[in-house]
Amino acid sequence: MSTNIYYFYDYMFKAIQSEFLVPSDGSFSLASASTKSSSSFDDNKDYKKKLGKVVNDLQDLQKILYAFDKHSVLLIFQAMDAAGKDSTIRAVMSGINPAGCQVFSFKKPSASELDHDFLWRTNKNLPERGRIGIFNRSYYEEVLVVRVHPEILNFQNLPDEIDQKNIWQERFESIQDMEKHLARNGTIILKFWLNVSKEEQKNRFISRIDTQEKQWKWSSSDLRERGHWDEYMRAYEDALNATSKPWAPWYAIPADDKPYMRYTVAKIVKKSLESLELKYPNLGDEERGKLSDARKLLVDED
Ligand code: ATP
Ligand code: MG
Repeated sequence: MSTNIYYFYDYMFKAIQSEFLVPSDGSFSLASASTKSSSSFDDNKDYKKKLGKVVNDLQDLQKILYAFDKHSVLLIFQAMDAAGKDSTIRAVMSGINPAGCQVFSFKKPSASELDHDFLWRTNKNLPERGRIGIFNRSYYEEVLVVRVHPEILNFQNLPDEIDQKNIWQERFESIQDMEKHLARNGTIILKFWLNVSKEEQKNRFISRIDTQEKQWKWSSSDLRERGHWDEYMRAYEDALNATSKPWAPWYAIPADDKPYMRYTVAKIVKKSLESLELKYPNLGDEERGKLSDARKLLVDED
């Protein structure tokens, strides 16, 4: 038994190091999480070139993941509005074989989803072995938006006996248990909080309102949620501290510079997949024998 505070299995995925990794000892503070990047690209060409290289490597890694067929990869994206979840997901996944990758967006739960426990709707959409699943928002909303607006609990059909004072801690435990279970069974979980500043969100909202092609993105609820900024930040800090684990790490990514944010996320995904040291399956003697029989039959046709 390990003397660590966590009982850690050697075979489990272990987070790769990064300046953006949220520590698993509960010491993460928002004050230490920058929204600004420390470096940037020379120009758009430089960005495209560097991102292109990482995305190419990701494509190769995904092919091996698929052939290896033992691990699945779950990428979770959480952020305030206009932080750039959609464009980051697009950038990271561009060029990846669509058969090996699927994106799910989670909005307000439907009536039938509310008739189940809060992990049900996401569990139904977990990636199969060999595949990459992306959650654009996730079960973390249950300790973020629901925590900021606890009146939502009244629509969740929960038993009356549930104590609303303990509910967030209990949900953290449910999430920890579920993620540990997934990790033990071969799922690589990487969670990204795209950390945009309040000032930059304001600029992006104004740009949405001022630009005809962006106006469709605007929703009046965006402004309402912005009014709860500080409560959201507290909820994020708590959730990240409670649930960043070596086998299911959070990364707090500076999001004020979009190209840098996308590149940083892509690099973390790439390095995490590389750390698995996946290889194309090696056939045994018997299978190799069957292959040479098949080859002979093909060559001897007609
Ligand atoms: P975009 O605005 O870029 O299209 P989005 O992810 O913000 O993407 P919206 O339809 O604007 O999508 O918002 C979805 C809303 O659903 C968010 O406000 C989110 O907090 C809310 N939501 C997601 N999951 C839950 C949940 N479990 N309970 C209550 N609200 C939720
Ligand atoms: Mg929105």
